[in-house]
Amino acid sequence: MKVIVDYDLCEANAVCQKSCPDVFRVEEDDSLTLLVAEIPERLRAQAEEAVRLCPRQALRLEG
Ligand code: SF4
Repeated sequence: MKVIVDYDLCEANAVCQKSCPDVFRVEEDDSLTLLVAEIPERLRAQAEEAVRLCPRQALRLEG
């Protein structure tokens, strides 16, 4: 499973980082970094929560 970010929508408010800090990191320059290419199974629930809670609907899961 991968996470896809629409960087045009993302406003770097770090909501996803709070839900799933092992996958999402907002940098000091307000850019969003994905820390893993593939979401490990143990992080699936956290990643799904991050997608659900993103206030900009900038995230989706694939695969
Ligand atoms: S929660 Fe959404 S808008 Fe906020 S940093 Fe994450 S992807 Fe961007």
